Amino acid sequence: MMHNYKRVLMGPGPSDVDARVLAALARPTIGHLDPFFMDILNEIRSLLQFTFQTKNEITLAMSGTGSAGMETCVVNLLEPGDSILVCVNGVFGKRMADVASRCGAEVTALEIEWGKVFDPQQIEQALAQKKYKVVGLVHAETSTGACQPVEEISHIVHRHGALLLVDAVTSLGGMNVDVDGWQIDACYSGTQKCLSCPPGLSPVTFSADAVKALENRKTKVQSWYLDLSMIRQYWGTDRLYHHTAPINMAYALLEALTMVKEEGLEKRWQRHLQNHTILKAGLEAIGISYVAQKGHELPMLNAVAVPQGVDDAVVRKQLLTDYGIEIGGGLGTYKGKVWRIGLMGSASTRSNVMLFLAALENCLIQQKYQFNHGASIAAAIKASCR
Ligand SMILES: *Cc1c(COP(=O)(O)O)cnc(C)c1O
Repeated sequence: MMHNYKRVLMGPGPSDVDARVLAALARPTIGHLDPFFMDILNEIRSLLQFTFQTKNEITLAMSGTGSAGMETCVVNLLEPGDSILVCVNGVFGKRMADVASRCGAEVTALEIEWGKVFDPQQIEQALAQKKYKVVGLVHAETSTGACQPVEEISHIVHRHGALLLVDAVTSLGGMNVDVDGWQIDACYSGTQKCLSCPPGLSPVTFSADAVKALENRKTKVQSWYLDLSMIRQYWGTDRLYHHTAPINMAYALLEALTMVKEEGLEKRWQRHLQNHTILKAGLEAIGISYVAQKGHELPMLNAVAVPQGVDDAVVRKQLLTDYGIEIGGGLGTYKGKVWRIGLMGSASTRSNVMLFLAALENCLIQQKYQFNHGASIAAAIKASCR
């Protein structure tokens, strides 16, 4: 039986998908070598170049979710015995280190406390001790809500002759991700976060230096499915069959990226930032605090501490059943202690912020949490009038 639940997706992804994107999914499926589909791939590449802010020739959408993009970058850049420094301050840095170790790379995980961001000095010190081929960094750590500044670290990484690999799964489309300006060598994202498309594709881009590393490999890429040396021939002028592209997902991504372009990058980042500011004002007015390092809170993912005495699971269940609102729970060390409230893509709206605050207050009253009733809404209204 098919259900038809209507949800407000305010978790760590997937985010709400616009009706235009859903309609695109329903267009007739055509062949993956059909000339019309070839045009669609070209349009996707050009819109991805716009969104990533890059001229990189190898800019495409891998089949699979964000983790497939992570794995694509790692397995194409690294050969057995190559070394990678992975900066770990949450779940996704940890995942990158795991993926790298599985392809035979020599992995050094530089770990700091969850919620904190790396100081460029820490990276400088690590690179002074040992030579690495690649340095991996998570721009928007969705498990902690922390935003890692990239630009200064990029200069350090390049000064030490390494390639910079950046996870932009959550940040792309919701805040500035400047691949060329920040000189990122390999970057990946996902469709279901700030691009507001269903999950299923993973945008990836490779700089000229990253392509050189790929072309200079002595061994075949460990994964046949994710081998960019073959996949680039399908996305390139040769149009060589590799695997069947997920046709309808490509329609959806094209529509979602078209919406990004129509809105404009700066306007879109501004919208994400404004709604975050309003939500933050509301939450802080009722004593709920962010777990990410101060000044580094992500605009699209609000990770906050579950107040003392409040039952995490009961509140999330009530939000879902009474209001249709989905938020995320904590991962790893944050399990049961943190809520992750997403304001991603189409879900980043003023009305979602207000609805959520009202719904949360209702749940908190039932939890007998002591706070000034209505204060979050009042603060949010005040913040939105600024
Ligand atoms: C969601 C996410 C991923 C993994 O993406 P999937 O689509 O779940 O495979 C990787 N990195 C970050 C930062 C994410 O938020």
